[in-house]
Amino acid sequence: MKTKIVVASHNQGKVKEIKNLLKPFKFQVYSASDFDIKEPKETGKTFIDNSIIKASAIAKKSNLIAIADDSGLCVNSLEGKPGIHSARWAGSGKDFNLAMSKIEKELNKIKSKSKKKHRAHFCCALSLCFPTGKIISFQGRVYGYLQFPPKGLNGFGYDSIFIPDGYRKTFGEMNFSFKEKISHRQIAFNKLKKYLIKI
Ligand code: IMP
Repeated sequence: MKTKIVVASHNQGKVKEIKNLLKPFKFQVYSASDFDIKEPKETGKTFIDNSIIKASAIAKKSNLIAIADDSGLCVNSLEGKPGIHSARWAGSGKDFNLAMSKIEKELNKIKSKSKKKHRAHFCCALSLCFPTGKIISFQGRVYGYLQFPPKGLNGFGYDSIFIPDGYRKTFGEMNFSFKEKISHRQIAFNKLKKYLIKI
């Protein structure tokens, strides 16, 4: 019999992406919307905390293994902001042009102190919570720097202001499937895959 696993997200994009990752493994995959549970408040202080909050809520409710991710952009000279609040910086209208211009404004305030490129990284935490209480977490990061004004219309969120190290294009200028190969999410997923292969 296949082991059942729940993707602890109501975001259909994320559910699709994680289901795809789990394809090579013999899981019967469900999503949070198969269970009558509201998304818990993300009250953690780190990406890992928040991914655990999301996955453990579903694992407890469903009595099945649950998987959740949490991700965001961390800007060095803004002490890691927007970080775990990356989605919130876009406001209730999920306006990422607004969020990117907020970052630019914050950076302009400190510009005189440094003329160097603004270093930043994307981070993705993935947690697997078992009904027994066991928790396994993985993290993937991709480092780079910021560029203003935003460039490129591909991708989502903060993609058009982030240039990964070793490249000259923003994530927003890259083809989606190429970006996904080098992304923080892929790095975290690869670590999870190595773990799943062993169990
Ligand atoms: P979460 O759903 O709480 O994990 O929110 C993650 C937020 O971080 C998203 O809404 C995006 O704004 C941002 N983010 C995470 N990963 C990426 C990415 O690959 N590109 C652009 N923005 C991202």
